Amino acid sequence: TADLHSNNVAEVGRIAQRLETRLAERFDGLLTEQQFIDQTQMRQLIGFSSSVAGCVALMVALLIVGYQQRTALIQRLEWQASTDGLTGVLNRRAWDSGYAMTLSRANRIGLPVSVVMLDLDHFKRFNDRYGHGAGDKILRLTAQALQRSTRVTDIVARYGGEEFALCLEGCAAEEAKALLERIKAKLPGGMTFSAGVTVTEGSEPPSVVLERADRTLYAAKQAGRNLVLLSSEIHLKPTSATDANVMLSLKSTATI
Ligand code: GH3
Ligand code: MG
Ligand code: MG
Repeated sequence: TADLHSNNVAEVGRIAQRLETRLAERFDGLLTEQQFIDQTQMRQLIGFSSSVAGCVALMVALLIVGYQQRTALIQRLEWQASTDGLTGVLNRRAWDSGYAMTLSRANRIGLPVSVVMLDLDHFKRFNDRYGHGAGDKILRLTAQALQRSTRVTDIVARYGGEEFALCLEGCAAEEAKALLERIKAKLPGGMTFSAGVTVTEGSEPPSVVLERADRTLYAAKQAGRNLVLLSSEIHLKPTSATDANVMLSLKSTATI
């Protein structure tokens, strides 16, 4: 009986041992399962948040690219709207706004401004003789020479077909005249121009100053072309700008 009893006790002990081992295995399994679930959820969460962050980053990148493209487009349009397509200098539109502004700024700080109207001589004849393409080239070279010989604060614009306007801040009349003579000497193909130069130091309306430069140019044409004339060298009737009222009375005949 004692043997039987001890056998039973041993058997119960073994069963308890096996049960304990099984439970431990199961518990481990449960733990592993829980960890697996946790890791999967974590991965899903990371995946989700990284995809949200990715979307946001993509949207921000698209917005930045869109903004940059828009800014570049606006700058290109502004440049096109203010530049003459053939010569690359400012066009008449840009001249109109820039010229008045330069005059009022110079007046405020007390600087003289030379305003120039310049027109190529017998350009129609040149076109007829050498072709329109050669004429275009002369226009480009003239614009280039004007641009290169002036300061960044100066305005160089193509005012019309073969006519250019200059606004030279802080430049006295004689200085402007010498500059124009140097540029004229550089033009290729024997091309010449006539120019009217006038200086303003006070608060004259921009249109009055420009009209005076234009009438001086007309006087230079009348006097035979290939000439840079200062408005102070001629007598101009103060009022109307019509051709009939331009009184060409040169103070110094030596200049012609
Ligand atoms: P003037 O000395 O009196 O100024 O005579 P001109 O022949 O220069 O002046 P006119 O007004 O009689 O002729 C201007 C010429 O300029 C006629 C026109 O064909 C030419 N022209 C205007 N714009 C352009 C252009 O963009 N390219 C070319 N090649 N010629 C042009
Ligand atoms: Mg001309
Ligand atoms: Mg002309």
